[in-house]
Amino acid sequence: MTDPILIVGAGQAGIKAAETLRLKGHDGDIILFGDEAFLPYQRPPLSKAYLKGEMDEERLFLRPQAYFETASVELRAKTSVTSIDPAARHITLSNGTRLPYSSLLLATGTRARQIPLEGATLDGVFSLRTMADVAAIRETLSKAENVVILGGGYIGMEFAAVAAGLGKTVTVIEACRRVMERSVAPEISTYFQSLHRAHGVTLRLEQKVERLTGETTVTGVALGDGTQVPADLVLLAVGAVPVTRLAESAGLALGNGITVDAYARTSVPDIYAAGDCTEFPSRRYGRSIRLESVQNAIDQAKIAAGSMLGETTVYDPVPWFWSDQYDTKLQIAGLSSGYDRTELEGAYDEGRFALKYFLGDRLLAVDTVNAPRDHMMARKALAQTEPVGTREAAA
Ligand SMILES: Cc1cc2nc3c(=O)[nH]c(=O)nc-3n(C[C@H](O)[C@H](O)[C@H](O)COP(=O)(O)OP(=O)(O)OC[C@H]3O[C@@H](n4cnc5c(N)ncnc54)[C@H](O)[C@@H]3O)c2cc1C
Repeated sequence: MTDPILIVGAGQAGIKAAETLRLKGHDGDIILFGDEAFLPYQRPPLSKAYLKGEMDEERLFLRPQAYFETASVELRAKTSVTSIDPAARHITLSNGTRLPYSSLLLATGTRARQIPLEGATLDGVFSLRTMADVAAIRETLSKAENVVILGGGYIGMEFAAVAAGLGKTVTVIEACRRVMERSVAPEISTYFQSLHRAHGVTLRLEQKVERLTGETTVTGVALGDGTQVPADLVLLAVGAVPVTRLAESAGLALGNGITVDAYARTSVPDIYAAGDCTEFPSRRYGRSIRLESVQNAIDQAKIAAGSMLGETTVYDPVPWFWSDQYDTKLQIAGLSSGYDRTELEGAYDEGRFALKYFLGDRLLAVDTVNAPRDHMMARKALAQTEPVGTREAAA
């Protein structure tokens, strides 16, 4: 009897890999390990509809319990994998149990970045990554008057929108000059900054946080300019870091995440990785990239499953992503970094537009606001563009 395929991480990538293995006809044992207490679930609603209370738990789950029996995928929730022995080809669980594998997939995702900040362990200070985080946040949020968000990235701005919608006094503190600076053009940041201000959110840009104040519970945020912002709830939304501890201890090559090739293979035979935790070579963008998106988790997991079964399909996606803030949907197709000009289609004041990013005459990415059809068309157009570097190499 062959050893099972083991999948570490029962999130978006882990469940998609298990499902794909079955769809491709693999009939051996598959065991999916997750250290959370729930069925695999989608995270995007945690800062959107689920946080608002507009979506129930059942709809958050990616598959119902019955799926695991029907598909014969063994789900071991509340089970942490603590080490891998690549030479002996087995893993060890937190209770000391060892299990052999024929192939192993690491789909360990990311965790919320923590920063060394005085007061960060006070009651009322949260991160937002898991269902357990939302459960903890909800209770404090329902009673809070003053909500302060450290970090103006997607999760921070989505949280701001929800909190403002609940009638809270909301302040976002951002170290950069503008919100969502790392991924969108100044025009898009300006648009969203105006949107948030129109909903009463205070944006404190280019601000350094000195410390969080309070005895046992947070009461405020002290800023570098000497001002103090009152707070009953502080959300630390300062990014995420790939979960690589297992991979590191097993001696797998690491970069900005677990290094994999275009087939989702790590540097060690029969160990694969997919999703937020990986860095992979993008031929399309001519460099290694790490993505934190549902698109990437799903599509790379499919490739990893195929590779485990002997297929040789290259993973080189057009990345896409979305963010919902109030009634505004931002959709991003492609990666814009390195662009030298933008082109607007539509009008900002109509609340529906597309901003195209170019490098010379090459389309790199398109951000759309409330224009889902344009987003789909952009994904198709980007899929047909030549990889960055192709023309340069031919010249
Ligand atoms: C609040 C929030 C909002 C988001 N919004 C969007 C959005 O609008 N659009 C979008 O495209 N993406 C969004 N994302 C990102 C998206 O959810 C992630 O890219 C996606 O979940 C990645 O899937 P994954 O399977 O790689 O990792 P995860 O979903 O993080 O799953 C990894 C799992 O592995 C478990 N694990 C780790 N180590 C071990 C171990 N040793 N043993 C057992 N289990 C382990 C973790 O606990 C976790 O359950 C959002 C994320 C968050 C947190």
